[in-house]
Amino acid sequence: MDKEYIKKLAEDPNFIPGIYNYCDRWCERCPLTSRCLNFALSEEQFDDPQALDINNKAFWQKLSEVFQVTLEMVRETAKEQGIDLDSLDVQQAGQEHEKNRDIAENHECCRAAKAYSQMVKTWFDSSEKLFEEKGDDLSLQVRLELPNSNPAEEAASLKDSVDIIRWYQHFIYVKLVRAMHSMAYAITGSLEEASWSLDEVPKDSNGSAKIALIAIDRSIAAWGQMYEHFPQHKDNILNILVHLDRLRRKTEAAFPDARAFVRPGFD
Ligand code: SF4
Repeated sequence: MDKEYIKKLAEDPNFIPGIYNYCDRWCERCPLTSRCLNFALSEEQFDDPQALDINNKAFWQKLSEVFQVTLEMVRETAKEQGIDLDSLDVQQAGQEHEKNRDIAENHECCRAAKAYSQMVKTWFDSSEKLFEEKGDDLSLQVRLELPNSNPAEEAASLKDSVDIIRWYQHFIYVKLVRAMHSMAYAITGSLEEASWSLDEVPKDSNGSAKIALIAIDRSIAAWGQMYEHFPQHKDNILNILVHLDRLRRKTEAAFPDARAFVRPGFD
């Protein structure tokens, strides 16, 4: 991989610029893989199974190559824009980054999102037997061929709900931290704030908050399905649903413009 190749690829008008910035990174389910430069590059760079194995040397070599090329491109872009990266006060920038990260992580939305990740873990850790029983129950339904029952459909719906919950379990926290982090920069003052002072420039904080909200919406729907699948565990599931609903409302209050943010390609 070299930067000239990436630049040439990026010129392909079929790719939607920035589509990968506010997606949910669930490429397996993404309807726009053919329009995503990030997907095209990942497919090409990590097509060798060894390069996908974190325990394999090939993976780290590939990752190192990607970082090297990215760094070259950042340097080149900075030069084109007249920015001398060597003159930047890296220590001060690092301190500012840490400070804003602290502000972000300690915001009530991020703390609630982190608590949610833990609630999911606790629920699944304690539900192993529940899933075994459900599996037995569905197998029995298959054998008995009961009228008005569709065990295959129920199993597929259950799997889908679990997949959704697991996919977004940590994603919500990560995206909210990013949203809060971006907002913290805007409040404390930075280069990013200067670019955002233009009204027409969409705020990264709103885009990140929007995808977090979408992840919350989908997680709520998936837990709603779980509620139907496991009526004997309604109380626990209801607690999680209440927590997520509060998180959704707090996030909407913290980012009142997030829902209106237009994500490239998706909205
Ligand atoms: S836009 Fe779609 S294909 Fe691209 S990174 Fe996001 S989920 Fe994956």
